[in-house]
Amino acid sequence: MKSLARWWKEEKGKVRCLLCPVACVLSEGSVGSCGVRVNEGGRLYTYTYGSLISAAVDPVEKKPLFHFLPGHRTLTIATPGCNLHCKGCQNWEISQIDKGEVFENPFYRETFLPPEVVVEKAVENGCRSISYSYSDPTIFAEYMIEVAKLAKERGLRNIMVSAGYLSLAALEEIDEVIDAYSIDLKFFSDRSYKLYSKGRLEPVLKTIKFVFSRGKWIELTTLLVPQYLTREQLRSMADWIVKELGDYVPWHLSRFFPHYRAYDLPPTPQEDMEDAFLIAKEAGLKYVYLGNLVGNEHESTYCPRCDRAVILREGYRILAVKIDKGRCKFCGYPIEGVWE
Ligand code: SF4
Repeated sequence: MKSLARWWKEEKGKVRCLLCPVACVLSEGSVGSCGVRVNEGGRLYTYTYGSLISAAVDPVEKKPLFHFLPGHRTLTIATPGCNLHCKGCQNWEISQIDKGEVFENPFYRETFLPPEVVVEKAVENGCRSISYSYSDPTIFAEYMIEVAKLAKERGLRNIMVSAGYLSLAALEEIDEVIDAYSIDLKFFSDRSYKLYSKGRLEPVLKTIKFVFSRGKWIELTTLLVPQYLTREQLRSMADWIVKELGDYVPWHLSRFFPHYRAYDLPPTPQEDMEDAFLIAKEAGLKYVYLGNLVGNEHESTYCPRCDRAVILREGYRILAVKIDKGRCKFCGYPIEGVWE
């Protein structure tokens, strides 16, 4: 549904969008790089306010968040569009919108799910949280905030799953209603960000540091994209996480499979997954996980002191939790996370 956007300003007869670092400057009638924000009559509108294109009840482990109320159900929603354009996007059918599609496709004008309905559905389905994901919730920030406010009133938590490519001005407002973040740290090089995603590294690092400084729970995910993500980048990334955030921030290293426009790339070789795991552990990170790799031992949580499995997982399923009041049940070591 068409709705006035929240973050923009008038600039020399045009409109500058202030929601994300792409910082589109739009002349009358033109559409932003995300495909869903339009200058109409000198004002910026989003065409996808509440235009839900995807909704599902998932285990929180799928976000992935492994240290945030393990095993709970989270209603996950998305609207179309994205402000990044990753070559290998898994959800490209809903995230990559042709410019002009918003005018032609009645879905945008006619679809609107009121925030209270989303929250009601979450409660009905026994969810403890709502996640904003699949596409990037940055481009539906206004709607996310409204849903999240109502969710909070009903005692639900809010989870933002994002590439972290947004302005600090928007993030400050969003952060008021978000309890936990799953952020993609894709590369540690501007060149790779640009070539693969049409983005930049610096704004993502700023987002991560900001969220962390607010004391919100955060887990990071990196897709091991062959050729674009080098061992050197991984090392620098691991060191940066330890130095700028902390050794307890969970890091999910996920296996790449080709999608969308990335069929020229192979899946991540298994040995590169193991290698990445060792790089992360050598940097001193306590909780490192390998994802998209069926039946691997690095999908469980191990106590950093006694090395026993404190959360045993099989894929997204929790088989056992051995944490009591935030501590390892075997040796009492504190395991960082949000457990209640
Ligand atoms: S949100 Fe969309 S319109 Fe706004 S700056 Fe980013 S890409 Fe451009």
